[in-house]
Amino acid sequence: MTTHLKTWLERSEVWSVLDHLYDGAYVTDPDLQIVYWNPSAEAITGYRREHMLAAILAENVLPHLDAEGVPLPKAKYPLALTLRDGRVRAGDLFLRHHDGYQVPVAARVAPIRNKQGEVIGGVEIFRDNSVEVAALAQVESLKKIAWLDALTQVGNRRYTETRLQTSLAEQEHLGQPFGLLFLDVDHFKKVNDTYGHDAGDLVLKMVARTLAHNLKSSDFVGRWGGEEFLVLVTNVDEAQLLATAEKLRKLILHSSLETEQGMIQVTASFGATLATKGDTPETLTQRADKLMYHSKSTGRNRVSFKLQRRPRAIPL
Ligand code: GH3
Ligand code: MG
Ligand code: MG
Repeated sequence: MTTHLKTWLERSEVWSVLDHLYDGAYVTDPDLQIVYWNPSAEAITGYRREHMLAAILAENVLPHLDAEGVPLPKAKYPLALTLRDGRVRAGDLFLRHHDGYQVPVAARVAPIRNKQGEVIGGVEIFRDNSVEVAALAQVESLKKIAWLDALTQVGNRRYTETRLQTSLAEQEHLGQPFGLLFLDVDHFKKVNDTYGHDAGDLVLKMVARTLAHNLKSSDFVGRWGGEEFLVLVTNVDEAQLLATAEKLRKLILHSSLETEQGMIQVTASFGATLATKGDTPETLTQRADKLMYHSKSTGRNRVSFKLQRRPRAIPL
């Protein structure tokens, strides 16, 4: 039986999926001999694959306890029951970790059948139900809620302010230079008016994604408000900052959103400035904002680094 099961596993390539699950997963033959054990099962139970392969479930490894914490007789293991009657089962259990403690898991078991429909094995998939895990997941999601802009999934205003402060401190204490790009989508109100607010939202997502996907991992993008974004570009001089801004400007220009009412394309105006000694988040963003408005007033879809004065009129 085990050889059939192994052949089936190899042929079906099912383990290439199981190998990458966040959930623990293992497969046994009808005699509860383990033939497959995935990396998440290792992480949740502390039992290594090489230790588990060929071991007999319940006899020498992985004792199960029911939801009340009472040890289950081998015949009552969900997998043992399923191997007998071929039915899918789900429920809460405790598994004893390699280090001795009990890990609460939510488990699902299912039979594996050959072409003739005979049960040739069973698979158990289990998720760590620990309070710590739940708490950690909650912190992660809270972190996400607290730091990310819900629509565009880039940093939100608060996070962007924090990052500005951190970058300024790093510049002052560690001498790490950085530049700031302030960009505002051009004529965005017209997009909303022409295609509707929902399409406008999708355009904002598109712009944010374009920015986020085209930066170094040490750079940062955040939504400053409405259709305004800030980009912090680390370790750059003037020329590199301008090159980054130009690249992003062109990428936005060439992005397009397909809608039922046609293709939407937008441009953005940029202000680009290097952080200097003595800058605060306010002075830095105000300077970049001013430069961005300079781009607006000189035609939009451009990057300004310096305020260009109008040439002085020659006196008559
Ligand atoms: P300019 O080129 O001068 O920047 O013109 P603009 O139309 O982009 O600027 P304006 O400030 O007049 O309009 C910005 C618009 O952005 C108005 C507001 O309704 C819209 N907006 C702000 N936040 C959102 C959002 O989350 N979703 C959508 N769809 N629209 C938004
Ligand atoms: Mg604006
Ligand atoms: Mg705008």
